[in-house]
Amino acid sequence: AVLLDMLDVAPVDHVVDRLLRSLAQPYPLGGNDVVVTASIGVASSATGYESPEEVLRDADIAMYQAKAAGRGTFATFDASMRLKVLDRLKTETELRYAIDHGQLELHYQPMVRMCDQRVTSLEALVRWRRPGHGLIGPAEFLEVAEDSGLIVPLGRWVLSESCRQIVAWEREGRMGPALRLSVNLSHREFWDARLIPQIEEVLNNEGVSAERLIFEITEGVIMNDPERALGLIQALHDRGALVYIDDFGTGQTSLEALHWLPVDALKIDRGFVARLKQDPDGRAAELVRVITALAMNLGLDVICEGVETSWQAEFLRELGCPLGQGYLFSPPAPAAQLSPLLAAEVATTTAEVATATTAPGGPLVRRPDRRPVAPTPRG
Ligand code: C2E
Ligand code: CA
Ligand code: CA
Repeated sequence: AVLLDMLDVAPVDHVVDRLLRSLAQPYPLGGNDVVVTASIGVASSATGYESPEEVLRDADIAMYQAKAAGRGTFATFDASMRLKVLDRLKTETELRYAIDHGQLELHYQPMVRMCDQRVTSLEALVRWRRPGHGLIGPAEFLEVAEDSGLIVPLGRWVLSESCRQIVAWEREGRMGPALRLSVNLSHREFWDARLIPQIEEVLNNEGVSAERLIFEITEGVIMNDPERALGLIQALHDRGALVYIDDFGTGQTSLEALHWLPVDALKIDRGFVARLKQDPDGRAAELVRVITALAMNLGLDVICEGVETSWQAEFLRELGCPLGQGYLFSPPAPAAQLSPLLAAEVATTTAEVATATTAPGGPLVRRPDRRPVAPTPRG
């Protein structure tokens, strides 16, 4: 902590700059030059503090703000920061309670074949029935869950609940033989050292085969460390689960990694689909066409996310995109609302088997496994 005795806060910037620069000087450690950067939070007594602890607390809050903004910077405390911190703390405390007290719910959204709208899988999407707020979506609490680590128990609940739903639908005869449930894995969940044993434990407890599951991981998460991701994806595959790359096109997937990562499908981010209408001959359409062709050549499936209009669906079908997901086909809905749709699916499949025909787009079977190719050594 540095205490500055000054009448005006304006020159603080210069002092902080000098501190940051001097801290950033390399210093020798065990024969090597080491560089550290610092993040600095500034609190001013103009706020009217009564104790030193309050000053330190607010400087600390500002420091975390600086850290979040990027390394080697500083931030000056203002009252809105404290409100934000208190709000996050409240969300975290209530979410911790929510996970163990039945306040979370899953909604399910079908992925369908573009040619005939037959359902191939359902994505589980978490919601929180938060007292005083109604049913809120993940945008309002996932960041807090991720930052606080609560995402791990939350994800465990999502997987358990998904498995319980699979068992229930299987019992009611609503799970077609090839139907899978898709579960999202965040950064922290995917890289958690206990990911695979936790999944195994949940599957064992609920009595569900991994062959009923898909795991969706965004490209940013995988590309953090594609070589280590390979091992995890293989472990999921070995147990029979599929792995999809989520929000494809928003991060930086190395095309080289796409060649040897044993993923099963790319989900093209809904941003591309949304941009089609404004510019049907433009870049979004071209990108969707190229990504689809690339994926299909690599033996991957392609799902276009966020299909909202029949115009978009038709356009995407013409571009060659085989699968879609979006409000047009069905919004995410509670399990009970989807049951009739699933029952109809099963009835259609049974009728097809009885008459020994297949649907126009081919039978609903799992594609043969793509054998992973060993990563090419770097450098
Ligand atoms: P996502 O994985 O990309 O999921 C698709 C999101 O798009 C969902 O938002 C869905 O409701 C929304 N969506 C579906 N169709 C349409 C459409 O036609 N138009 C538009 N505009 N939106 C559509 P949601 O449920 O709010 O989830 C947001 C994100 O939160 C998800 O994005 C996913 O990254 C994350 N998420 C949701 N559930 C879970 C979970 O259980 N675990 C983890 N780790 N992440 C989750
Ligand atoms: Ca997803
Ligand atoms: Ca997505």
